[in-house]
Amino acid sequence: MKTIGLLGGMSWESTSNYYAAINRGIQQKLGGLHSARVAMVSVDFSDIETLQANAQWDEAGDSLARAAQQVEAAGADFLLICTNTMHKVASRIAAHINIPLLHIADATGQVLAEQGIRRIGLLGTRFTMEQAFYRERLEQGFDMEVMVPDDSAQETVHRIIYEELCLGQINDASRAAYLKIIDDLAAQGAEGVILGCTEIAMLVKPEHTSVRCFDTTAIHAEAAVNMALA
Ligand code: GLU
Repeated sequence: MKTIGLLGGMSWESTSNYYAAINRGIQQKLGGLHSARVAMVSVDFSDIETLQANAQWDEAGDSLARAAQQVEAAGADFLLICTNTMHKVASRIAAHINIPLLHIADATGQVLAEQGIRRIGLLGTRFTMEQAFYRERLEQGFDMEVMVPDDSAQETVHRIIYEELCLGQINDASRAAYLKIIDDLAAQGAEGVILGCTEIAMLVKPEHTSVRCFDTTAIHAEAAVNMALA
C-alpha cells in the first residue's frame, strides 16, 4: 500500500472527512484492521483565507508548496490538495515536489465521464465558480459543459462556505438556499451538480435532493484509495 499525502486544513472540517473516508475506503477494500498509510500537513486556514481575499495567489501557492514539501518529506508517495479552490495554484505546488499530484478536478471529471454526463452544474467558492482554473480543466480534459449559478446565487454559495461550513455550522436555511440553487441549475439543463467545495457535502446529502450531486471530497478520497492500492 502506498502512503497517501494530504495537504489539509482548508478547512479542517473537510480534512477530517477526507481522513475518515480514506481510512473507511482502505478498510472496505482490505478488511480486517487495515487502515490507510497517511502523511498529512494541516495548515492554518486563516492565513490562507487572508491571502485568497487579497488575491495573493502566488504567495498562497508558495506557502502551500512548502507544506507539500513537508508532506513529501514525511514519506507520501503522492499528494492530494484537500480543497477545490486551492487547485488554482496546483501547478505552482506541483513544481516544488517530486511526487505526483492527484488533481481533484481530474478525479471528478473521470467519475462524470464514466456516468455519461456532459452538462454539469458547479457549486464552490466564488473563485472556483467564476475563474477558469477548475472549469477549464473539466471543459478541456473531459469535454464537459460547465454551468454556474448567477451572481447573486454565487454570492450566497460563497458566503455560506466561509461563514458557516468552514466553521462546522450546518443550518437548515442555508441548506434550503443551496437546494434551490441546485434545482435551478437542473431546471436550466444540468444533468447533475458538482459539490465543488469540500465542505458542501456536510450540508447537502443525497437524501435532500433528487438531483445527482457529486461530492468532490468523497470522489477525491476514493481516487486516493484506488491509487494507494494500485
Ligand atoms: N474547502 C473549500 C474548497 O474545496 C473552500 C476552502 C478553500 O478556500 O480552500 O474549495
